[in-house]
Amino acid sequence: MTLSTAELEQAPAEPPSLTTALSRGTAQAPSAHDAASFSRTQNTASGFVLSARSDAFRRRFYPEVSQKTWSDWHWQYANRITSLGVLGTMLGLSEEEAGAGTGLAALPLAVTPYYAAQFDPHNPAHPLRRTMVPTVEEWSLNPGESADPLGEDSHSPVPGLVHRYPDRVLFLATDSCSAYCRYCTRSRRVGKPCAGSASRRRWPAAIEYIENHPEVRDVLISGGDPLTMTDSALNHLLSQLRRIPHVEFIRIGTKAPIVMPQRITPALVRMLRRYHPLFMSIHCTHPDELTPEASQALNRLADGGIPLGSQTVLLKGINDNVPTMTALMQGLLKNRVRPYYLYHCDPVQGSAHFRTPIYKGVEIIRGMRGFTTGYAVPTYVVDAPGGGGKIPLMPDYVQGYDGEELVMRNYEGGLYRSYDPAVPLAAHNVHNAGPAGCADGDMPCL
Ligand SMILES: *Cc1c(COP(=O)(O)O)cnc(C)c1O
Ligand code: SF4
Repeated sequence: MTLSTAELEQAPAEPPSLTTALSRGTAQAPSAHDAASFSRTQNTASGFVLSARSDAFRRRFYPEVSQKTWSDWHWQYANRITSLGVLGTMLGLSEEEAGAGTGLAALPLAVTPYYAAQFDPHNPAHPLRRTMVPTVEEWSLNPGESADPLGEDSHSPVPGLVHRYPDRVLFLATDSCSAYCRYCTRSRRVGKPCAGSASRRRWPAAIEYIENHPEVRDVLISGGDPLTMTDSALNHLLSQLRRIPHVEFIRIGTKAPIVMPQRITPALVRMLRRYHPLFMSIHCTHPDELTPEASQALNRLADGGIPLGSQTVLLKGINDNVPTMTALMQGLLKNRVRPYYLYHCDPVQGSAHFRTPIYKGVEIIRGMRGFTTGYAVPTYVVDAPGGGGKIPLMPDYVQGYDGEELVMRNYEGGLYRSYDPAVPLAAHNVHNAGPAGCADGDMPCL
């Protein structure tokens, strides 16, 4: 029993006049989701937009569930698909997917019905589907992989808090997510039974640590996904952090606007905006995620004055090419999200099938810088195994000095010279320096 693309794209019963202006903000990326499948987006009674694609899925697999209930995040969260058996009634599972098993893997299976509606039911290689549906490949432990590749546990002064950089901490507020990414760096800890309540018990000691460390001026609230918590739990945490005078800057790392956009209610935004300056980092993977629903969620946050950044993991066969990455980043900008980080896929166990060579990310950045809006270009980082932190990798445009001229390449590969005399070469952090490097026109390898 699968849902064909034709069925998904059938016109809903409601008139097209209900189409909201928001649907125009949706990215039209090279993807399985053509613009037509979103064009009949409607506004539900509860004020949430509902794309034709999502609504067709609702009617097919949840006919007893009203549009209003579907648009309630509590329903989405409580009705996450957590078994391959149920998923198999909605998608034609491949051998690799069907053989993955459940209950054994470190990381459970959980997908919101909303996000499952965005999967291509016929194509196991569909990018969104690959990020959420386990496969047998997860069972291998590959060279260089470990359970805690970033050494976070060894940089935790108190449980649930990572203090790796001088002026900021990572606050792991919950171990629960609304959907589990198969490549998750924290798969060792997220998604365990009682993931939410157990993590709450860590808060007092973590807050006390921040109170006692005046150098901590920036708190990154992450997890898990902090937006799986109720408004009141989140409000409680934010108010306690805001009471600490030296905490200048707070951000929340979340994937909720992408996998459970219904979470972004007007009430949530009203609560969050009491804690400015509050930023949000949105975890996103592929342009197909920028649905009318996600677009509405992002715009609600932006209208709440919350500056939005993005974080994306570079994933093999999912977003590891320039057109897809460019479409994602341009789509984010259209939704007022400023691309922030592109991460090399951390070597967490069972993730080799997602990992590209490190240089791939540098190539993608080279293919974007100059070719599109500078705001659309994220910083590519490798989080150094063992706790070294994020190391930015950039294409090198410097060729070296030729006499009193610095020789550089522009984004198109053309050589340009700038008169820049009388500076000792050693003062420059230039590799491949010297006239020989540019005389023969060789590009450095990155
Ligand atoms: C990424 C990260 C931060 C935040 O780093 P920024 O470069 O400021 O975004 C803080 N702590 C830890 C442990 C992190 O992994
Ligand atoms: S949302 Fe973040 S913490 Fe949760 S599974 Fe995905 S990568 Fe891991």
